[in-house]
Amino acid sequence: MTDVEVSHIPKTSTAPRCVTRSGPVVLPRLVRQRAMAVGIGDLAERVAAGERLDAGDARRLFEVDDVAVLGALANQVREARFGDLTFFNRNLHVNATNVCEASCIFCSFARLKTGDQGAYTMALDEALGRIRAQRDRLVTEVHIVNGLNPDLPWAWYLDLIAAIRAERPDLHIKAFTAVEIHYFAEKFGKSYVEVLTELRAAGVGSLPGGGAEIFHPRARRKLCHDKVDADGWLEVHRVAHRLGMRTNCTMLFGSIETMDERVDHLLRLRTLQDETGGFQTFIPLKFHNENNRLRRLPEPTGNDCLRTLAVSRLVLDNIDHIKAYWIMLGIKLAQASLWFGVDDLDGTVKEEKIYHMAGASTPQELTRADLVGLIRAAGRIPVERDTLYHVVAEA
Ligand code: SF4
Repeated sequence: MTDVEVSHIPKTSTAPRCVTRSGPVVLPRLVRQRAMAVGIGDLAERVAAGERLDAGDARRLFEVDDVAVLGALANQVREARFGDLTFFNRNLHVNATNVCEASCIFCSFARLKTGDQGAYTMALDEALGRIRAQRDRLVTEVHIVNGLNPDLPWAWYLDLIAAIRAERPDLHIKAFTAVEIHYFAEKFGKSYVEVLTELRAAGVGSLPGGGAEIFHPRARRKLCHDKVDADGWLEVHRVAHRLGMRTNCTMLFGSIETMDERVDHLLRLRTLQDETGGFQTFIPLKFHNENNRLRRLPEPTGNDCLRTLAVSRLVLDNIDHIKAYWIMLGIKLAQASLWFGVDDLDGTVKEEKIYHMAGASTPQELTRADLVGLIRAAGRIPVERDTLYHVVAEA
């Protein structure tokens, strides 16, 4: 697929941020009636009144049979904030190494040691080549996430970021999950502040939201016992926010977690957001079951995906954006989710590896025209944004 090119790079840093409208949440009569019929009339009224939902409320939402009414409620909240606007960006992914000391049982991407079959670590030039290949394309972001590679020195990471910065000063570098930041801190004997400050000085602009998985200790012990725990993950983001960096947050759903553990996860994120306000976007990540140790588990149904997105919108009242990551969700479900509380579809995502190795059957990339077309076909208005939600263009 080829991208549609335009003739200049907009100065996105001075463009206006995507405005949240903060209008009233209007409950159409049919939504109100349907919510009452399925036993959540009280919750619908509280959502309309702008009241916060608690853990028990969230649990009730996850148990409602009628996913359409959840979607309708979440949609009212989404439209009160953004109307029909739906955000996307032009980005590329660089996964520079899949060698990883950790042993997360849902992971299909990692290889334990250098030299293992399928293991790779890019030389700096190779990683940089991915950026150079996009020289003539108006991508605005590079998203970098890696395994926890014991063979790489600290300078490798700083050099990688500095080289990208030198090659493409206009590109926003969103790099390294909280899991990686914690690993760097332990391995190189630095504090989170030191790691983040050095990375920022090299050119990192924000952190992606990966590695959160499920915070609850029961599920986390089973899913990923040997990487940073929930408190550590949250602390990395707290420190990043205090340093003025924006970050995203995620939840891996649909594997072994209980509904209570999903609720616990959402509320921990909401609590940190109350404290710092630094999260931009919440991205529920659908579990995929190929080429990992959970291959006997079924993947979450479309119904469960839409429910989780809708409940996230209703519970996370202090996080602006709810993103449907089309790579994992599938393009059609991502389109449908734009009526279930979602306002963001991620980006063009050149060359995604992590979820394709787990069986994602979506394309490796979409063009800007593809994204604009599928948002329009869903009845919404596409808006190209940069990483920090400055408007690049209303398409
Ligand atoms: S999910 Fe991340 S930390 Fe866990 S094994 Fe895979 S690459 Fe390593």
